[in-house]
Formats: sequence, structure tokens, C-alpha cells
Amino acid sequence: MARYDVAIVGGGSAGALLAAQLSEDAGRQVVLVEAGGEPDDPDIAVPQAWPALQGRSYDWDYRTEPQPGTAGRVHAWARGKALGGSSLLHAMGHMRGHPADFAAWAAATGDARWSWEGLLPAFLAIEDHSLGGDGVHGKGGPLPVTLPGEDVSPVARAFIEAGAALGLPSIRGHNTGEMVGVTPNSLTIRDGRRITVAEAWLTPAVRARKNLTILAGHLVRRLKLDGNHAVALEAAGPDGPVEITADRIILSAGAIESPALLMRSGIGPQAVLAEAGIACRIAAPDVGRNLQDHLLGAGNLYAARRAVPPSRLQHSESMAYMRAGDFSAGGRPEIVVGCGVAPIVSERFTAPPAGAAYSLLFGVTNPSSRGTLRITGPEAGDRLVIDPCYLQTERDRKLFRAALAAAREIGHRREMAEWRERELLPGPLETDTGIDRFIAEAAITHHHPSGTCRMGGDDHSVVDPDLRLRGLDNLHVVDASVIPTLTAGPIHASVLAVAETFARKAIAGA
Ligand SMILES: Cc1cc2nc3c(=O)[nH]c(=O)nc-3n(C[C@H](O)[C@H](O)[C@H](O)COP(=O)(O)OP(=O)(O)OC[C@H]3O[C@@H](n4cnc5c(N)ncnc54)[C@H](O)[C@@H]3O)c2cc1C
Repeated sequence: MARYDVAIVGGGSAGALLAAQLSEDAGRQVVLVEAGGEPDDPDIAVPQAWPALQGRSYDWDYRTEPQPGTAGRVHAWARGKALGGSSLLHAMGHMRGHPADFAAWAAATGDARWSWEGLLPAFLAIEDHSLGGDGVHGKGGPLPVTLPGEDVSPVARAFIEAGAALGLPSIRGHNTGEMVGVTPNSLTIRDGRRITVAEAWLTPAVRARKNLTILAGHLVRRLKLDGNHAVALEAAGPDGPVEITADRIILSAGAIESPALLMRSGIGPQAVLAEAGIACRIAAPDVGRNLQDHLLGAGNLYAARRAVPPSRLQHSESMAYMRAGDFSAGGRPEIVVGCGVAPIVSERFTAPPAGAAYSLLFGVTNPSSRGTLRITGPEAGDRLVIDPCYLQTERDRKLFRAALAAAREIGHRREMAEWRERELLPGPLETDTGIDRFIAEAAITHHHPSGTCRMGGDDHSVVDPDLRLRGLDNLHVVDASVIPTLTAGPIHASVLAVAETFARKAIAGA
């Protein structure tokens, strides 16, 4: 049986980057273990097709518990299951976040590496941005990022004009540190194609390295522990059970499967493990806690006066970040309004045909609601209880109302008049109760589950500031689960920056 220096569990956004970076040293034997296969669906490359990919064979396709905060609804959570992970399914928005988001990470860990300034070298190294070379955006990195120009829909252009007329600054993308303002979204699209993390990092040259083994179609069932050491992975491969041994193990199975895998291995809250029939090896009460996600209200819907041209990008073409209740205030954003150039609504509403309507989406940038995730049994197939506790705080509900109000103000502006025939949703609403009811019916996931193995400087955090699991000396967690608090926008860029920052330290031998 082969023995590796490093085993990485999960070939998704973080794992694919790590496999490429850590195998740069030909003397290090690296194995990347991925439950899914090679992505072979041609639709993955088509940016407009992204919503249709959900539910296909390479989607883990989770369900949340019914959510009291969203009218008892069960939310489908897509997660990629193939090399490239959720970068195969995602909506391609590339947003680093606001410096204050990372100041919170640095405060939580007591480690300046996780501040905006600390992460900047990683952001720059990752990107090959169309604005690259200006000292702010990266140039020559593996991941193409484009700030679109003429491809932006005329509806999104009108949205941007309306936001600017209300006082929002016009900004050049969301990645300079100034997020408050209005701009087209930066996208991981090049020449009209989605570029996945697998394409960007697991290039033919990287795959040809003799010291990198990629085991696709291998589902890791649990970690084998010996005292304070993780000695092996027990996996189910295409030909039966496999044991993979390695000196160091990195979990990059994502915000749902990384904590679940820890719990199945006896690392987690004692009561959860006992109920699932698993002997507790390391009591780690915070594994599976601190679950966070962004919601988007879908949508503030408008019937179009004339045919809305189909998106040449990925439908959600511009996001305006802002303070609540004041279009001209700067600082850390509190709410977001996005322009969907298609009729985007939750399953509770009927969408008009494509071309006949468009939606303004709205949400809260840094929600305070926190949920939990737990296993119910020892096997990978045992049900996961995913409870994001959406909209549990009055703060989140209040900011959501402000976000809907901002969407409607933009949507009713003169600059949008050539597209707007009339508002279809929500229509007249007078009381906070009525507004809350509409939001509860309209909110859909923005697809950013995170936080379930949070990093921190405190003893209860799941991983320490070096992303080492507390209680084991050779196990790290590197993926969206370690993010202690959400960034203001979509989190993919920051997940990659976390992985890049970790890889740099590992490469330096620390
Ligand atoms: C529909 C959708 C739209 C999104 N839109 C955006 C967007 O526009 N912008 C943005 O910034 N973010 C977006 N995101 C979020 C972003 O894609 C994720 O936050 C990010 O990809 C998470 O990276 P990760 O490495 O933590 O996990 P993943 O990329 O999910 O990787 C985890 C990998 O581990 C594998 N795995 C899991 N369990 C096991 C196991 N037991 N054994 C072996 N392998 C295992 C999985 O198959 C997967 O390949 C979106 C996500 C989705 C699903």
C-alpha cells in the first residue's frame, strides 16, 4: 500500500488548489482523494446554464431542515461532487470581501495572516484579472477573472445607472477593498466559458507530476486515529474498501462534509456522537456549530415593458453593496441588491416566461443568525441534519426589510423606466409583518454555507490559526468550513485565498 506525505480529502475549490500547490515540490508525495469523478458534462462550461446544473449526478443535493424563519420551507443546498467541487456549479461571481470582514477573522484568531492585508498576497497570486497589473488585481495567476464590459445586459446597465443616481459610488469591480457602490460583477469566465478550479489548478502539467496521485471516485468514510495522530483514511473506492495512509491529512471536503467526516471519526460534540452511536475520541463541541449562509430575496420582480435579452453572462450581472437606509453612506456594507436579468423567484411564486420579466435580488451581507449541522449515524449515507436557522435574529430581519426597500427604490427609479412595466412582487405591503412574510417566502440560499469548523484563537474553536485541528497534531482543515464569519459577498475567492495562504506556509515548511 502506498504511503503519502500528504493526503487531501476533497478535490473541490480548496482541495484542487492545495493539490497543485503542495505537489510543486517533487519530493513531496501528495494524494488527492475525491468522492466524485471527472467532470464531463459540457454544460458546466456554459455560464448561462449554471442554475440548470443543480440536481445532476455531480451535485450532493442536500436538504435543510424546515426553516421557521422562511415560512417552514426546506431549502435545497447544491454542492459539487466531482473534481472541481462546488466551482463546477457556482455562479462564477468573484468577490474578495470587505477589509472589515477579514479584520473580524484576524480578531477571532489573533493572527494578522487572516486580515485583508495578510490575505492580499494570496488574492493577487490566485487571479489573472482583466484589470490585473494595477497593483490591486492579480495578473498571471491560475484563475481567470473578468470584469465584463460590453457583454453586460442593458437591464443591468440601467440598474447601475439607477444605483448611481441614488448616490451609490460607481466602482470598478468589488475587489479593491471598497465594496460600497455599484458595478458589474467580476466573473470567473474567459472567452465565454466558465473556468473551474479543476481547470485552473489541475492542469495537464500538474496532473502529469509523478508525485501527485488523484483518486477520483473514492469516498472517504472516516479517519483512523491513533492517540493524537490521524494515521489513515478509510475510503470506499470503485473496487471496494481502500485504506490510505499519510503523514499529514488535510480535510477539504467542504463546509458540510468536513464536519460530518470529523464526527463520523469520533471528533465532535459528545451528545451528537452518542446519539449517532459513535465512540467519542476527541470532544470538540464546536464541530458543526456556527453554520452560516447568505440568503437572497428572490425577488423583487418586475414585468418588462419590452423583451429582456437573454444574459450573455450568468444572469446575475451586477450587485450593489451599501449601508442600510442611506445610499450615500460609505464604510462596511450591510445590505446588497443584485440585478438578475431573468425572472428569478423562489419556489413559492410562479415565474413569468424568460424575457418577460426581471428580478432585483436583495439580502444581508453579514447575517448574525447561526445554525448547526450534525450526523445521525456512523456512515456517509446516514442523514445529515442541516439547520441554518435562517433569519433567526431581529437584526437580520430588520436588515432584510431595508434590503427590500433599497431594491424597490432602485427598481422604481426613472433610469429603469424603459424596462419596467410594473412591479409584480411583492406588490403593495404596508406592515413589517407583511414584509417579513413576503421575505420568508421569497428568500433562497445564496449558496455560501460555511463556518462549521471555525478557526479561532480560543480553545473552543475547531481549528487553530494554523488551521490545525485542536487535539490532533497532523490534521488540518482547509475549506469553507474554517471561515469564522461570512464575508460580505460570495465566498469563493476567500476560500481560495485561505487555501493559498495555508499552502504557502506548508510549502515554507512550517
Ligand atoms: C450553486 C452554487 C452557486 C454558487 N455561487 C457562487 C458565486 O457566484 N461566487 C462565489 O464566490 N461562491 C459561490 N458559491 C460558493 C462556492 O462555490 C463555495 O463556497 C466553494 O466552492 C466551497 O469550496 P470548498 O473547497 O469549501 O468545498 P467544495 O468546492 O464543495 O469541495 C468539496 C469537495 O470535497 C468532496 N468531498 C466531500 N466529502 C468527501 C468525502 N467524504 N470523500 C471524498 N471527497 C469528498 C466533494 O465531492 C467536493 O469535490 C456557489 C456555490 C453553489 C453550490
